[in-house]
Amino acid sequence: MNAAAARVLAASADAAAGPREGAVDGPQADAAAGPRADRPARTAAHTDAAVQALRAALGDDGVLTGEAIPERCHTDWSGHAPARPAALLRPRSTAEVSRALAICNEHGQGVVPQGGRTGMAGGAVPRPEDVVLSLERLNRIEELDPAASTMTVQAGVLLEQVQQAAAEAGLLFALDLGARGSCQIGGNIAANAGGLNVLRYGPARDQVLGLEVVLADGSVLTSLRKLIKDNAGYDLRQLFVGSEGTLGIITRAVLKLQPRPRSVQTLLVALPGFDAAVRLLRRLQASYPVSAFELMWQDFMRTAFEWQAGRRAPLAGTHPFYALVELDGEADAVQGTLAEAADAGLVLDAVLAASLADARGLWALREITGEFPTRLEPINFDLSLPVGVIGAFAERCRAALSRRWPQHRSLFFGHVGDSNLHLTVDGRSIAGAPHAEVDALVYELLREVPGASISAEHGIGLLKRDWLAHCRSAEEIAAMRRIKQALDARAILNPGKVLA
Ligand SMILES: Cc1cc2nc3c(=O)[nH]c(=O)nc-3n(C[C@H](O)[C@H](O)[C@H](O)COP(=O)(O)OP(=O)(O)OC[C@H]3O[C@@H](n4cnc5c(N)ncnc54)[C@H](O)[C@@H]3O)c2cc1C
Repeated sequence: MNAAAARVLAASADAAAGPREGAVDGPQADAAAGPRADRPARTAAHTDAAVQALRAALGDDGVLTGEAIPERCHTDWSGHAPARPAALLRPRSTAEVSRALAICNEHGQGVVPQGGRTGMAGGAVPRPEDVVLSLERLNRIEELDPAASTMTVQAGVLLEQVQQAAAEAGLLFALDLGARGSCQIGGNIAANAGGLNVLRYGPARDQVLGLEVVLADGSVLTSLRKLIKDNAGYDLRQLFVGSEGTLGIITRAVLKLQPRPRSVQTLLVALPGFDAAVRLLRRLQASYPVSAFELMWQDFMRTAFEWQAGRRAPLAGTHPFYALVELDGEADAVQGTLAEAADAGLVLDAVLAASLADARGLWALREITGEFPTRLEPINFDLSLPVGVIGAFAERCRAALSRRWPQHRSLFFGHVGDSNLHLTVDGRSIAGAPHAEVDALVYELLREVPGASISAEHGIGLLKRDWLAHCRSAEEIAAMRRIKQALDARAILNPGKVLA
């Protein structure tokens, strides 16, 4: 191994990205997903009446219609076909969200909650007959409690603002992802976002101690508790985390904060194979708290080097795999561990960031995913598989894609240590075939892997709705429907998302 040049590390970003042209809903894959229950026919007059009542309750400033609705609210980052909603609601408080939902429920009016619209599953995309409810005016940090190590925030606060407020208090809010400057904490919770630090801190679900949620009928569930231990009855809070706006609208949250890590190191490691990557990860975890282990297959890294032409490559040569690692440890000790791993044949080459700028440069390689929408026609996958089978699955997947489309271009990468494999296929390389054909190929292969999931962190939304039965049993889907029916009997909340 090259004596790893010493350098230091910084924060990061992630992304698996990219607008999905034309928003292809996959075929109704399995009867267990249930028939698409069409909602009772509504006319434009029903919608007009609902919007009028909403305007009376929220005022002219709280309800925008027609051209006044900014185009950005017509779709989200998934690139799903845009639609201008019947109205954009801009409540200023939980009480106004409650009033708005009570009116919508009374009128049977569909409501689509929108946070920062950075979601990749089309969960925040409206239909023309829906109203969109934006959380952007609920944007206050209400309290930081150092003794409890918690922060109480309104749902529309940006993730980056939460991170900064925690840092100013000498603490860490551990959720982090590439969209941090645009996504809202309410959206993160509604999507149960994963991101870069799941390995050490868990997904959004693990960062939430308390929630306030407005139900479809306007009733407000306030459980803004700061307790680590609390076993009083069902944990309602967790029902709403990851429910993608289909069970209630999150208005406030109590977030768990962490001590800041003492000595963060960022490393880029070249590896001979997938199994070596997993063995290295486990070796590092035995000695250090590892917060990120981003694995990139050669196709991904070749693309990163190509797009960043002009910048000096951090490692010479081309290697089968690369891992971008972030861990808490002293540089000398980490270099020693890497040398031992090299002796054991697990590491081919490595570089340790010696400055914040170096660390950012390493992360920039992983962050090329943010450029996918402009440089590719991305068809994105966000798969979850037991860690040990990810390598073999990726090879099977690549081989099947090559058999079907010999010229196809695909990039494999992922958080891996937390079981998350991302795959992006360039839609321009599949000879004009519909994107749904790629979905079918990948999800059929995934179905053969026991315990795998079609969504690790991006959720189901619209884009993956019809594939849900590939990883959830008929009984599980039926239970989901019963919960939905119990909490939203008129099916007004985010209609058509998650469940058909
Ligand atoms: C560059 C980039 C990198 C990304 N990296 C990651 C990553 O590493 N890991 C990851 O998990 N995701 C990632 N994402 C996806 C996305 O950022 C996350 O899903 C994020 O949590 C969405 O937050 P948002 O505020 O934008 O929500 P939106 O996109 O607005 O909404 C997401 C869903 O939640 C619902 N919703 C929004 N707010 C509320 C609310 N207050 N109450 C109820 N429902 C609500 C919406 O209806 C929708 O169904 C990335 C996206 C981009 C663009």
